[in-house]
Order: sequence, then C-alpha cells, then structure tokens
Amino acid sequence: MKLVFATNNQHKVEEIRAFVGEGFEIITLKEAGINIDIPEPFDTLEENASIKSWTIHKMTKENCFSEDTGLEVFSINNEPGVKSARYAGENRSFEDNIDKLLNKLKDKTDRSARFRTIISLIINGNETFFEGICMGRIIEERRGTNGFGYDSVFIPDDYNRTFAEMTMEEKSHLSHRTKATEQLVSFLKK
Ligand code: IMP
Repeated sequence: MKLVFATNNQHKVEEIRAFVGEGFEIITLKEAGINIDIPEPFDTLEENASIKSWTIHKMTKENCFSEDTGLEVFSINNEPGVKSARYAGENRSFEDNIDKLLNKLKDKTDRSARFRTIISLIINGNETFFEGICMGRIIEERRGTNGFGYDSVFIPDDYNRTFAEMTMEEKSHLSHRTKATEQLVSFLKK
C-alpha cells in the first residue's frame, strides 16, 4: 500500500520506514514533488497533525498520514509540549531549545517526562487518529549523538541510555512514534 508521509523530517521518515518494513510504500513529500513547509498553527498535537495530512491529501489526492510529536515534562506544566520545535522561539536552533529546557529544570527534582505522538491518517477521505506515548525522564546534560531533537536529554523508563545513545533500531523498539505507527499498521491490516 502506498502512503504519502506529510513531513520534511528525514529522521522521522527513516524511523517509520524501519518499522513498517515491506508491504507499505512510504512516500516522502520530496518524492511526491511537494516542497512546502506546512504550518503547525494550533495548540494541540491532534489539530496540527490533522492540518498537515489534510493539506497534503488535498494537494495529492493520495492516501496519506502525518504526525505531530511533543515532549511533555510534567513539573513544568507539560512544556514544551506542542511548542517543542520552537520552544526557544522562532528560528532558534535546536540546541537553544534543549538549553532552555535544561535551564527550566535546573531546580526541579521531578524530571519525569513523556514523548507523545499523534498520527492523523487519511484513507479514502476519512481521517483516523492514533496515539503513541513513551515515558521517561530528562537528564541534566546531553549524552549521545544519534537521533535528533531532544533525544540527547531523554532516557526512556527502564533504560539508562538516552535515545541519542541508542541505534535507530533500539530507539525504534520503544519510541512514541513506533507505538503510534504500530496502531496505524494494525488498523491498515484489518
Ligand atoms: P514535530 O512533530 O516535528 O512538530 O516535533 C516537535 C519537536 O519535537 C521537534 O523539534 C522535534 O525535534 C522534537 N521531536 C519530535 N520527535 C522526537 C523524537 O523522537 N526525539 C526527540 N525529539 C523529537
């Protein structure tokens, strides 16, 4: 089955391709000849995921999906949440986002957090949502160089390495994105 994945983030494409394996052809926006930066204007992951997949569905008429992910840190009111990509402000580097987060958590003893992914899937014009959660904690200093985003400061529960210290396959076994994708795949196989 062919699905357009409404993202420009190559890391996300590779993670999802590694997980879904054969049977699904995941087409990137670039491969579909689309060069747009889809806005994420809303205050919820659901609404942002939805606008991304509807935008691409309207342009391509293909079955497609998108995802929006946020890191939610409980002791700071679930920040950075839906603003994870631009936590330190528009056009700031990702390192700035991590610095802001570590700074906010400086005096906090509770550093528990979760990554939450929402997928919006559009098949034949009908939308379905899937959610994936990975519980963990934020450490005090960056560790590891793999992955992207907040991976270097997030350790999933029951592990002692950050996502950035894991291979893509290891991360893929436990990640929020994989859990949401698992549901998408089992829905499509029904
Ligand atoms: P979005 O879904 O692209 O809007 O992601 C929001 C922000 O969270 C981005 O800046 C990503 O870098 C970050 N993010 C999303 N998924 C992950 C992940 O699996 N690990 C670390 N950071 C992530």
